[in-house]
Amino acid sequence: QARGLTKTFRVPRSASGSTRLHALDGVDLTVRRGETLGLVGESGCGKSTLARVLLMLERPDAGTLRYDGVDPFALRGRSLLAWRRRVQMVFQDPFASLNPRMSAGELIAEPWRSHPDLVPRAERERRVHELLEKVGLRAADARRHPQEFSGGQRQRIGIARALALDPEVIVCDEPVSALDLSVQAQVLNVLTELQAELGVAYVFISHDLPVVRHMADRVAVMYLGRVVESGPAEEVFTAPRHPYTASLLSAAPRPPTAQDDGPSRRIVLFGEVPSPTDPPSGCRFRTRCWKAEQVCATAVPADEPAPDGPQHLAACHLPIQPSDRGGSRAAAHE
Ligand code: SF4
Ligand code: MG
Repeated sequence: QARGLTKTFRVPRSASGSTRLHALDGVDLTVRRGETLGLVGESGCGKSTLARVLLMLERPDAGTLRYDGVDPFALRGRSLLAWRRRVQMVFQDPFASLNPRMSAGELIAEPWRSHPDLVPRAERERRVHELLEKVGLRAADARRHPQEFSGGQRQRIGIARALALDPEVIVCDEPVSALDLSVQAQVLNVLTELQAELGVAYVFISHDLPVVRHMADRVAVMYLGRVVESGPAEEVFTAPRHPYTASLLSAAPRPPTAQDDGPSRRIVLFGEVPSPTDPPSGCRFRTRCWKAEQVCATAVPADEPAPDGPQHLAACHLPIQPSDRGGSRAAAHE
């Protein structure tokens, strides 16, 4: 459970000095046991910084992270190590993230070096074979090297490696976006089956909305370091409240089976994402929002629940109403 996570980085600006980049600005996030939380947003919105904080690779400037009630940043030594085991990562590019000089078996066993008590030495080989089979590879694949596998197989190795420490949460950062379309579904199925079997939770980071819709129980939409909308995936996808979410959804190809009343017109946003070193006052989306009014420049919008969905929050002064959807959205930029 993350509350108010804030993270800024000092970046050089010119000869005259540096400026601060606001990567995260008061992010609230809850990940429940065994669920998939989809994390959506354009590049530069803070998703990767948030992932690094969740993995404890980055300490927030402000805000709290609680894991089963424990603040992991307050831990030291062995208890810190034990905590780290619980949250693991699957990277976007399985080729770049796997050392080509190590065999698949060595790659999967490597995390045990820093957690030597987890799996007794005598059981490691058997455990590696078991993990390979869990992700749909064969025990004999343990001897092969990353370059001998296809992209999809390499990502399966990445998943087996993440599972080696028996985590409770896996942060998946664009886990299939480097893969061919035909292979994506297979890897997603592996993740889904493992979740059903092991009860592991995923933080599933992706810009691919149909994939997120397929995978996520709940979603959080980020824009310029803030979560602008969050809630049960179906509610957010079929009835977005925040204009930014609506614009993302209108640009996304929809699965052919989707029967929804979501945005039916394409909303093309004007302007670029503002620089995170100089974010707009008030609502950070206001420079690109077709609904923006004076209040949006002066007041930061608070999270408000949807009238018919208390879990569905949007940070907008003028959230989209059901009556806005469809024809009356002529003001949207088409
Ligand atoms: Fe648009 Fe204002 Fe809502 Fe921000 S607060 S999304 S600018 S309407
Ligand atoms: Mg699920």
